[in-house]
Amino acid sequence: MKKIIISSSVFLMLVGALAACSTPQTDAPNNESVVEYPTIYSTEIQAEEYPQYPEYREYPQYPEYPEYVECPEYVNYQEEYSEIVINIPYVETLPGDIAVQYIMFMNDNLYARTAFTYRELETAEWLVETLIGKGFDSEDIVVQEFTLQDAFSTLSIAGTHDLPTADDFMLNILVHAGEREVRRYSQNVILTIPGESNKTIIVGAHYDTWAFPGANDNASGVALLLESAYRMRDLDNYYTLIYVFFGAEEVGVLGSSYFLSTLSRAEIYNILFMLNADLLFEGSYLLFTPGVMVTGVQWGGLVGSNRITRAFENIALELNDLHDDLELFSYPEGLYRFFSDHRPFYMRGIPVIMFSGMYRDDELGFSRRPFMFYLGYGEDGRPRAIWTDTYRDGVFISHAGILHSWRDDISFINEHWPGKIERAMWGYGIFLEAILLQRYT
Ligand SMILES: [Zn+2]
Repeated sequence: MKKIIISSSVFLMLVGALAACSTPQTDAPNNESVVEYPTIYSTEIQAEEYPQYPEYREYPQYPEYPEYVECPEYVNYQEEYSEIVINIPYVETLPGDIAVQYIMFMNDNLYARTAFTYRELETAEWLVETLIGKGFDSEDIVVQEFTLQDAFSTLSIAGTHDLPTADDFMLNILVHAGEREVRRYSQNVILTIPGESNKTIIVGAHYDTWAFPGANDNASGVALLLESAYRMRDLDNYYTLIYVFFGAEEVGVLGSSYFLSTLSRAEIYNILFMLNADLLFEGSYLLFTPGVMVTGVQWGGLVGSNRITRAFENIALELNDLHDDLELFSYPEGLYRFFSDHRPFYMRGIPVIMFSGMYRDDELGFSRRPFMFYLGYGEDGRPRAIWTDTYRDGVFISHAGILHSWRDDISFINEHWPGKIERAMWGYGIFLEAILLQRYT
């Protein structure tokens, strides 16, 4: 693993390099040999359509983004940001309470953390400063930087014909960045909490976003991890916990792919399972997707179970019994429907579980779209993900959800679904802690 122990001078060095990016040309697809691959990230949005969201102007609370065009200076966070003060031991706080504060903070101060931009870097710096500020040893924190080429070469799709190229990914990055300057690097932030056992649990959440506040996608996952790390340090963790805050998820799970590629065979063998937290309150149903791949079907590997994933199911059942207000739903097929940072681990045969708060078809209001899709083909002949239920009563619903829209904002969500955020963070907080404290024998 390429390790960079973090210091302020390293950050200043990271700020240095800039990528000179030209708009790439994409090759015409070959219709004859398409394979199942949800290219939801690379082909759906045209640069000229982005980011002019007409709804944006109708929403007065939405923050303006005046400062994006210029490269921000390195910031001393201890002066810039007010500290979140918790005076009682973390394990005595209500699960979710600390996490909700971090979601608010990221929503208001670190919005639009787009992959390969300086804002993404700024968020990585904030994560490191926050962890160090909470007393974690800087020796246990690693910032792992990578270029698009580094990460792309690690994708299992690389080298396959008629699948996205590095140029497609670069185009995607430029589209997501909008007017803002793109830098050469993205980065993962890795925190290790050693345990008695050398078996490891990878707990991951991406911190990059589209050009929106990203409360749900994915400050929710990041905040869950931060709170969990504070609590687990005070508890007796048996397994070694590796918290990874992934960069560049939105442009094609690049951070998680790169992270996995840096592990040795022994390190991969020692991974008990990978837990991914992404979109914790997109809808109000608390889903989890336990599974392990049983066949190597490319991009659609079949979900099976083993003793570890069955243990997740048992823990959920027990917690649902124990807490009147808690309803955790198992949704194994979500593993291959949800394209997120668990995917590279799943494809390597590592048991995974993803946390995702999702819609059900009968939920009302903005959340009437069930978060599911089927695989079809776009006009260009490429396989792509297509939402189910995009038409309702003959009306086209393009962005009926929260994620990847201006609605992914904490005040908007609180206004329309009061209590949803707190409930999700509480439920997932309890579930995560029980999973991390379990002995998997
Ligand atoms: Zn996400």
